Amino acid sequence: MRCKSHAPRKAIRNYVWAVEPVGYPATALVCGSVHCMEPAFIWLEEEEARQFDAGERVFRAFTATMKVRAA
Ligand SMILES: [Zn+2]
Repeated sequence: MRCKSHAPRKAIRNYVWAVEPVGYPATALVCGSVHCMEPAFIWLEEEEARQFDAGERVFRAFTATMKVRAA
């Protein structure tokens, strides 16, 4: 979960789309970059973007520590 100034590096995951979490920008999601306090977007990989198109709104962090709901 990152803001658009600190987009995740493509070398790690191939994110194709960023969607807003519920309530954005007044969201509980905060950018994961070390010193950043900006509200974060949910970055989706290709398969997740397809699921979003099909109506899915809950997405997992890849560490399985939490899930987040998209708007
Ligand atoms: Zn940030």
